[in-house]
Amino acid sequence: MSRKVWISGDLVPQEEAKVSVYDHGFLYGDGVFEGIRVYGGRCFKVKEHIDRLFDSARGIALTIPMAPVEMGAALQKTVMANGIVDGYVRLIVTRGVGKLGLDADKCSNPQVIIIADTIELYPKEFYDNGLAIVTAPTIRTSHEALSPRIKSLNYLNNIMAKIEGKNAGAVEAVMMNKDGYVAECTGDNIFIVKDGRLVTPPAHAGILMGITRATVLDLARKARIPAAEEDLTRYDLYSADECFLTGTAAEIVPVVRIDGRTIGDGKPGKVTRRLLKAFRALTKANG
Ligand code: PMP
Repeated sequence: MSRKVWISGDLVPQEEAKVSVYDHGFLYGDGVFEGIRVYGGRCFKVKEHIDRLFDSARGIALTIPMAPVEMGAALQKTVMANGIVDGYVRLIVTRGVGKLGLDADKCSNPQVIIIADTIELYPKEFYDNGLAIVTAPTIRTSHEALSPRIKSLNYLNNIMAKIEGKNAGAVEAVMMNKDGYVAECTGDNIFIVKDGRLVTPPAHAGILMGITRATVLDLARKARIPAAEEDLTRYDLYSADECFLTGTAAEIVPVVRIDGRTIGDGKPGKVTRRLLKAFRALTKANG
C-alpha cells in the first residue's frame, strides 16, 4: 500500500517522497529523529517525543523550521491521511541540502519528514518466553564525544553492537560505557529487578533517555514498586532476579539469558509481567 509521506509541509505519495543526495542527513547522518507509536489512532506520548526531538535538535545546533505545536498537528495529519490506527511514525529532521563538506552553515532548508506506517512487532514468543541477549564488544559512545541523549541520524555505534549481537545469535545486545558500566541496548533501555527493586542505568551512564523507560518508572511509582537509577555492572545483570528491555517498538520485553547465563529462573519474571500488563492497559487507553 502506498503511503502519504509528509515532506516539509506537503503530503506526497511515497514514490515521490525523496530527499536530495546533497542533504547532510544523507551525506553525514546530520539530523535527528523520533520513533512514535500510534495506538487507537493517536500518537502515544507525543509531547515527550516532540520535546525530545527539539532537545536533540538543540543538541546538534539544528533549528527545526516548525513550532512544536505545528509538529504535533503535522504528525496527526500524517497518521490520519494514512488511516493508521495501530502503527508507527518515523519523524526525521535533516540538516538540509549543503555542499560536499561538513560546514552546517552552508546547509539551507532543514527537511522535516514524517512517515506513518504499520509496525512489525516482535513475535509473541519473545514476550511469553523472554529474550536471550549478549553484551557487545563495542562500547556506547560517551557523552564527552556525542551525547547518547541526542537521538541523531548517526546510529553507527548502535549498528556495530547490533551486528555483534546478531553474530552471537542474539536479537539484541547490551552496550557498556567506557567505564565498564551498563549503558543500554542498541535500540532499547534496560532494567533489572533485584530483591523486588527495579534498577535502570542513569542518564550519566550514557543512554538515550527512553520515553518507554520514563513511562515504566512512572508505572512502578504508581504500583509502589521501589525503583532507582543506578550504575550497573555485568555482575548486576548476571545476578539479577529479572531483566527486561523497554522501547517504543518493543514496549516491555523480558530477558531470560545474558551472555549464556540464565537470569532468575529462566522465565519472564513477576515484576516484568506486572509492568507489561500495566503498560498495555495504558496504551489501550490511548485511543
Ligand atoms: N535507546 C536507544 C539507543 C534507542 O534508539 C531507543 C529507541 N528505539 C531507546 C533506547 C528506547 O527509547 P524509547 O523508549 O523512547 O523508544
